[in-house]
Amino acid sequence: MLQEIRKSVEHLDIRNKKVAVQIPEGLKQYADQIMGELRKRGAQEVFLFIDPNFGACDLKDRGARELGADILIHFGHNRFGRIQSTEIPVIYIPITLELDVEKIVSTLEKIHGKIALCTTVQYLRYLKEIKEALGDKITVGRGVLATEEGQVLGCDPGACNVVADVNVIITDGIFHGVLARMQTGRKTYILTPAGKLIDVDPHVDRYVRQREVAKLLAKEARRIGVVITTKKGQMYKDVAETIAKKIRDAGVEADIIVCDYFYPEYVEGMPYDAYVFTGCPRVPIDDYTRFKKPVLTVAEALEVWR
Ligand code: SF4
Repeated sequence: MLQEIRKSVEHLDIRNKKVAVQIPEGLKQYADQIMGELRKRGAQEVFLFIDPNFGACDLKDRGARELGADILIHFGHNRFGRIQSTEIPVIYIPITLELDVEKIVSTLEKIHGKIALCTTVQYLRYLKEIKEALGDKITVGRGVLATEEGQVLGCDPGACNVVADVNVIITDGIFHGVLARMQTGRKTYILTPAGKLIDVDPHVDRYVRQREVAKLLAKEARRIGVVITTKKGQMYKDVAETIAKKIRDAGVEADIIVCDYFYPEYVEGMPYDAYVFTGCPRVPIDDYTRFKKPVLTVAEALEVWR
């Protein structure tokens, strides 16, 4: 990994520049080495953002400009489709993880039919090689928020929206597969980097049940907090206002509340029976058990209050 990080910064022209840096949670253990490499390359100052970072949707270009940085280096992700302009120049450095391509190809060969193949940014570099090995058996699509061909995000499984018999997503987690299954309606497997094939169907059932409970509880609520996050790529003010209006039109009280991170601890003691989170759609789902009150995604809120 250190080798990959070193290689990824060796072309940077940052001599005498003030550099702001964002690194995702998985790379924090290398923060010291990253800062060291940037200083070695002549950076005049390095400002390291230590807030949790889960995507390029949470780009700190404004904060970096306010710090006087000349450039922001965002590690671990590529550009988020919704962010078209930035307040200072941004360099994205997605980090590639190791993948045993032979093992992946031999697993894919055994799957019957045409495969819509996609992956997360960490393994994108291998898609071309896999496609070359398997030819027409593989088809690769493109999402909207995910900017590379074949790339999926937790908020955008659109790369699976191609003509195929089955979706296969190379990744560690289940979430992308659940979304792809629900969006395309076709059989979906997660293929772990270790070569294990996981059918997501049992996880979809659990997910659907969990979300149905959240919607039912929210329907009973008398006062709702509609949450806007100030994260650059996740801020949907108009959507929040539309949803708040729909809730009020249904005779239920609604307030718009604003935060950067939407942590369960922030809403302890607040007067709401349920929340609608208008930012990352993973938050209501991943943090389901951490919130004491139901939290809906935008899509779910629009089902409850049409
Ligand atoms: S899933 Fe959430 S954290 Fe990931 S890119 Fe989408 S909005 Fe950002």
